[in-house]
Amino acid sequence: MAGEKDFAVAASSEWTDDEDGVRLPAGEAHAWVPGQNQTVCGLPLRRAQLTRFPHVTWADALPESGGGADRVKRLCPRCRSAAAGRTAGRDSWRRVNPRP
Ligand SMILES: [Zn+2]
Repeated sequence: MAGEKDFAVAASSEWTDDEDGVRLPAGEAHAWVPGQNQTVCGLPLRRAQLTRFPHVTWADALPESGGGADRVKRLCPRCRSAAAGRTAGRDSWRRVNPRP
């Protein structure tokens, strides 16, 4: 489970919680590693017009977490399985693979 905490979120839209004033993801959410310019599934953030949420963990964007997921309509299934598959070998995900 630790692996999901290593990812942040990029989403197609955003909303701001009135009480906390915190930006939260909405619409379609992807897993994203802060510092990279693409999502875990390989979407270029800028071209896909995704907003970054470095302060929101992927685990918090999962609907079952009840965290910041209130307005997330859809989770990218590819990002989801990628994030779930990174629970072992904490160092391996840091290696940046060249694009195919
Ligand atoms: Zn994705």
